Amino acid sequence: MDTVKKEPKKVEISSAEWQIMRIVWTLKHVTSSEIINLMQKKQTWSDSTIKTLITRLTKKEFLSREKEQGRYIYSATVEEQATMNEYANSLFADFCAHKSGSVLNELIDSMEISQADIKMLQKTLDNKLATAPEHVKCDCLPDGCADMC
Ligand SMILES: [Zn+2]
Repeated sequence: MDTVKKEPKKVEISSAEWQIMRIVWTLKHVTSSEIINLMQKKQTWSDSTIKTLITRLTKKEFLSREKEQGRYIYSATVEEQATMNEYANSLFADFCAHKSGSVLNELIDSMEISQADIKMLQKTLDNKLATAPEHVKCDCLPDGCADMC
């Protein structure tokens, strides 16, 4: 089935597995030999390494497979945008709340993004500014950080 799950899924995907997912998201329905072919144009990974990654993603239910004319066709069970958002959110959830803004700023500063994306960011920031708190507290210690931040 190529039904896309609606609820966000805890994104435990390794860097290598992301490469596989990006191929499947782009091509939608793909065989393991097509994935191997495309991966080997970018990486020096062996067939068995790539097959292991595909199997792992299938077991974790990020990929599903269906037999068609004797071969398995793989497709994603999760949406790309939702999965990227969830992954980025879970990353930032581990950081100090007080410092997240400066990390985000550094990220934007160092990233190549389009003019359209920059305009979108400006609009989002303008909207955020209207309701943003003056200060976001450090949440690193159980009782807060007293005068340290
Ligand atoms: Zn902190």
